Amino acid sequence: MTPGGQTVDVDLKAMMETLWEKVRIYNPQADEDKLWFGYRFAKSAHEGQKRKSGEPFFTHAMTVASILADLRLDVDTLIAALVHDVVEDTDYEMEDIRQRFGKDVAHMVDGVTKIGGIRAVNKEARKAETYRKLVLAIAQDPRTVLIKLADRLHNMRTLSFLKDDRQQDIAQETMDVYAPLANRFGIAKIKWELEDLAFKILQPERYFEIEAGINQTRTERERLIEKIVTPLHEALTTAGVQHEISGRPKHFFSIYRKMKDQEIGLDRVYDLLALRIIVDTKTDCYHALGVLHSLFPPLTDRIKDYIATPKANMYQSIHSTVRVPGGKNIEVQIRTGDMHDRSELGIAAHWRYKEGGGADQADLAEMVKWLRQIMVWEEDVDDAQEFMETLKVDFFRDEVFVFSPGGDVFQLPRGATPLDFAFRIHSEVGFRCIGAKVNGRIVTLRSELQNGDTVEILTSKTPNPSASWLEVVKTSRAKHHIRRWIKSTQFQESVKLGGANPREGTEAGPPQDQGGRPAGRGPADGLFRTRQVAGRRGPG
Ligand code: MN
Repeated sequence: MTPGGQTVDVDLKAMMETLWEKVRIYNPQADEDKLWFGYRFAKSAHEGQKRKSGEPFFTHAMTVASILADLRLDVDTLIAALVHDVVEDTDYEMEDIRQRFGKDVAHMVDGVTKIGGIRAVNKEARKAETYRKLVLAIAQDPRTVLIKLADRLHNMRTLSFLKDDRQQDIAQETMDVYAPLANRFGIAKIKWELEDLAFKILQPERYFEIEAGINQTRTERERLIEKIVTPLHEALTTAGVQHEISGRPKHFFSIYRKMKDQEIGLDRVYDLLALRIIVDTKTDCYHALGVLHSLFPPLTDRIKDYIATPKANMYQSIHSTVRVPGGKNIEVQIRTGDMHDRSELGIAAHWRYKEGGGADQADLAEMVKWLRQIMVWEEDVDDAQEFMETLKVDFFRDEVFVFSPGGDVFQLPRGATPLDFAFRIHSEVGFRCIGAKVNGRIVTLRSELQNGDTVEILTSKTPNPSASWLEVVKTSRAKHHIRRWIKSTQFQESVKLGGANPREGTEAGPPQDQGGRPAGRGPADGLFRTRQVAGRRGPG
């Protein structure tokens, strides 16, 4: 956006025509006039401003809108994308946006502007502040996060025009904040591109090493895929399962992470090679899995059923690594078309234009519920630093999977203790927890749970929490309940001393012993008995 320097001509009108063509195909009823009005307004507002690349500044907003059109989003989101930098970088006010485009667009622009406009002195505080604003903006309108992610994506794609140290900072922030955010909202498509772009800047040697390794083995891999796809296709057809099979390119950063986590070389990363089978129904998924395993033996410890137990970001798919002729392993993912859409687009899928409307409201409700919980917790947290810690747990979730004695699987952040598990089952179980058994042996409440542990909670008849528990638990859920407990008991003390109005504190009071469900047994007890231990991965 600096004046001077070179100038690159860009045909903005042609870009806009292409954008409208895209929109018209997935949403013929879209308000064309409103979209073009947004274009003309933002274009003239940014008139004369340039990017470091020498292109007109407005190409940035156009590209952001175009990324969102690829996710098939509604016109209001696209307009908000077109005008998203107007308030920040020109003389127009938020009110100008509201008058022209209505309050929905104004809200989104406001959210994006606030997230971008944070200039705190200290880096950690700034990060925490970014999160706080992000969460507030998202809670108002989750489409805000989509615009912010598309905005970051375009900035990452054009990062080479900035100075080296700026590149490093922005790439690091992308890795720390935006890629996890995209992951949390299930937008795999954007998450992977962000990660790979940031990876290339942060660790160029590793990036190029992986790139070279992949190119070297390409022919071999293609031949191998051929050997699997043909018989698989035939067997699925014979079994009457409608399907599509595709080879899946692996993303560099996920390969790198796998190599690092498992301390293995490039040659041993199983799913350099990956196949995906898309079928019509959930039943077909299991049918296809059976067909697959009848042809190629599975590695039994590498079957993951994310259909029965979706990931926290609602990703659903079955993963199985099978052994193919020649002794190689290949990861196969099986899912329905709907699951696939959601795995690529996550929360964005809810605003996609659909023939006859009818977005899947259930998942959206889950997302919003999650955000609300964060908002509630925020009230209990005093400073930005602590809020950051609370969020870190939820955003940067490094997960372990543990089991109830009944075989239900529970997902907890790494470092979680039996107390976290107790609160995860029910706050009542948490409050009454007096001990725990892990894999049949008594352990202290401080001990760290490991992947695959079976955890049994021992309870007393009466609730028994203590303030020291705050140091033992890792999850925000458990902290939240314990803090409320402490607050309410302190309150009751002051009531006894004749201090406060008793009506205020009762809601947050400790739960009564109502003889709830037995400890260590989850609500869906017995429904899920397959022992699977999943590592931490993004979708796919
Ligand atoms: Mn921008």
